[in-house]
Order: sequence, then structure tokens, then C-alpha cells
Amino acid sequence: MCAQLLKEVKDEVTNLLSDLIQINTTNPPGNETKAAKYLAETLEKEGFNCEFFEFAPGRGSVITRIKGIGEKPSLLLLSHLDVVAANPKEWSVDPFGGVVKDGFVWGRGAIDMKSMTAMEVVVMKLLKRNNIEPKGDIILAATADEEKGGEAGAGWLVRSHLEKIRAKYVINEGGGLAIPINGKNIYTIQTAEKGILWLKIIAKGEPGHGSVPGAADNAILRMNRVVEKLGNYRSKISLVSTVKQLLSAIAKENKLVQQALSILLQNPKAGDQILDMLAQKDKVMAEEIRAMLRMTIAPTIIHGGVKENIIPSECEAVFDCRILPGQNPRDAIKEIKGLLKDVDLEKLEFEIIQASEPSESSMNTPLYDLIENVLKEFEPDSSAAPILLTGGTDSRFFRKMGSVCYGFQPMRADVPYGEILKTVHGIDERIPIENLVFGTSVLYNVVQKFMT
Ligand SMILES: [Zn+2]
Repeated sequence: MCAQLLKEVKDEVTNLLSDLIQINTTNPPGNETKAAKYLAETLEKEGFNCEFFEFAPGRGSVITRIKGIGEKPSLLLLSHLDVVAANPKEWSVDPFGGVVKDGFVWGRGAIDMKSMTAMEVVVMKLLKRNNIEPKGDIILAATADEEKGGEAGAGWLVRSHLEKIRAKYVINEGGGLAIPINGKNIYTIQTAEKGILWLKIIAKGEPGHGSVPGAADNAILRMNRVVEKLGNYRSKISLVSTVKQLLSAIAKENKLVQQALSILLQNPKAGDQILDMLAQKDKVMAEEIRAMLRMTIAPTIIHGGVKENIIPSECEAVFDCRILPGQNPRDAIKEIKGLLKDVDLEKLEFEIIQASEPSESSMNTPLYDLIENVLKEFEPDSSAAPILLTGGTDSRFFRKMGSVCYGFQPMRADVPYGEILKTVHGIDERIPIENLVFGTSVLYNVVQKFMT
């Protein structure tokens, strides 16, 4: 028999999400304290004791827990309260209006990730209402600052208040969205994420008069070669375990791409050719997969020159480089310098703006198996597949402390996979109310079964 959806939470989780969207936590500056206090208030009404942590005025996070009897490892339900900016002029609704219409909740954070916060809070309340006595601690943490790197949120809490937030298992954002293939859903579980290397390169030259270009050494031209080299570089393809599993799962369900993907699995070097073909059908998915196969480098900022008639002696550019599990920022810089050998390396300066290691959790755990089983209870012909996130989440702080972290925000894909991803940090971000009910139901079942 199929598991029942918890239809009774529909209004509660919808209203909670709408309220959270209306508390504008655009980061910078964040102002998450208001949202953290709001959550503490709604939780305390149902008998929870909440602890409030503020990194700096306005930068609040909230933590609460249901105590277990110490017979099972603890589980942390993690989310972040901040969102990225939204330009109201581009949206069809007020991005901070918490609008509920046409069966959706609209607004910045509807997917990333106030919906998950709302679902996790409702799960905690349901556990208490249903008098569930867990065998291990179930912790909820809604934190500040994820969108700017988490140093004022999860990163700080792990460093300064580890005992409040430490857990063997963590459920967070980064996966959970179904990839529908031939009427069946493959639910993703984020088991790995890329590392970040934000690199500034400064090209040096000799200044001169703009009317005699040959007498000077133009730093813009030097930087032009750097951008050309790095921006078009396709580094070696490397299949990490998570991506291998994901591609195998997709190939199993889709006969059309099966052949192409099995060639890719056997011969990764042919990867780009195959993805070019796939891109004609689904560009976003093909490019997502391409970025999972290798280190990527994207130029994102460039500055140079001060006046119309001065040839500049300096030009700087920033590169957003993302590295795979198994790689590290040090080796990435070595590879980048190798590429720039013939661009007068001595006239280039390198500066690391920010770097973080990639991270990966094993999929061979009882929690992973349980998530897959619960999904099958709701949808017998569904399956689960691990996914590598090309971006970063707060999970990396916890993986570093030895926790098993899964990005699992369960969502059915009601519109094409790529369309949903485009609204995240994009325009008209929204989530179907049905998905809020589905997500809450799946999460509740996972937590309740795992912890009792
Ligand atoms: Zn997020």
C-alpha cells in the first residue's frame, strides 16, 4: 500500500513558507534574526525550547532539539534563512509578498530554501504532536549567511558552538528534486559537492600614450589572452563515484540516452561529444552534467584602465573555479599556471579570494537506504540516485567534522527539470503547494522511521 500524504499540514506549511518569504532576508545584509525569532516563536508555542545565536547584530540562527534516549545517532535537519537578491521589476509578483496563487507559493526563497525550512519545522512539530520518542536526538537548525559562504552562520556555529549542532547525520538542501524519465521519477540525493576556488589574476604591463600603442605594453591585451585561455579551457574529465552512480541510474531508465551514457561511462574522453548531442534535447541538464565531469573555470569580473588615452599597466579579472571531489585548490592553481605558461607568467599575479575543499559522503549508509525505501512507499516505481552539486552548500562544514550529509529536499518535478533550476536565484521562484505537502510527508516519514 502506498504511504499517505499528510494533507492536513497543507495550510500550515503553506502559511509558514509565505510568512518566511515576507521576512526579507536578502544577503547581503541578511537580517536573518527576524526570521530566526519568528521560527523560535512558532516552535515555542508548541513546547520547544529554542536557542538563538547571533554572529553579529541581525545575523541570527536558531536551533532546537527533540532529545533522544541515546540509542541511535543524532540527526540534524539543517536549512539556511538567507536568500539572494531579487529585482521586483523582473518578477511577475512581489518577490517578498509571500503570494499564494494558482496552486503555488511565490517568492524569493520559495525553493532555495525557505520551503525546506518550513517543511523541517512542520516535521519537528508533527513529531512532538504525535508523541514520537526518538532513540537519538533530532536537531533543527535554521542558520544565517549560507548565500555568502556561511561564515556568519553554519560555519561559525560549527566552529564556535559545535556541541549544539553536531550530528552523525545531516539532511540539508542540494538534492531531492526528481528527474522525471519516461513517467518514472529518479529522486536525487546530494552526496557530494564541488569545492570553490575564487581566483583573482592581475596582469601587469607598461603604461603609455593611447596614440602610440606599440611603445607600451598593454595589460588589457595580456588579460585578454588569459581570459581566452581559461574561459575556453576544458579540463580533463574525471568520473567521481557519485556522478558514475547518477549517470548509471539515468541510463537505466531512459533507453534513448542509455547508449550515449554507457559510452560515456566506458570512455569518459568522449563525454563532450555525447553531451553536445544531449544538449540539443535538454541544454540545462546536459550542461549540468558537463560541469559534474570536470573542474570548471568561469571569468566573472574584469577591470582595467582609467582614462581614454592611457594604455593601462594593470588589468585584473576574477575567475570562479570549481573543483571535483579528489581535487584540491593547490593543484587547481598549478594547472591554471601551466595553462598560462606562454602568457608571460612573470607578468601575472595570482591572489586567492576564497577557497574551499570539495566534499563527499558515502551513499552506503542506513539513512540513504531508508530515504530510497520511503520514496518507494510514496511512489513504487521511483528510484533514488546520488548527485554531485556543482555549487556549494553548508553541508561542507559538517562533512569536514565527519557527519554524513545528504542534500534532500524532496520535490516532484512538475515542470521540466531545467525550468525549476532556472528560477533558483532567478525570476519568479515558486513552489507548488502540492510539493510542500509531498516534501513534508516524505521528510516526516524518513525522520520518524530513521529515529525510532
Ligand atoms: Zn540554498
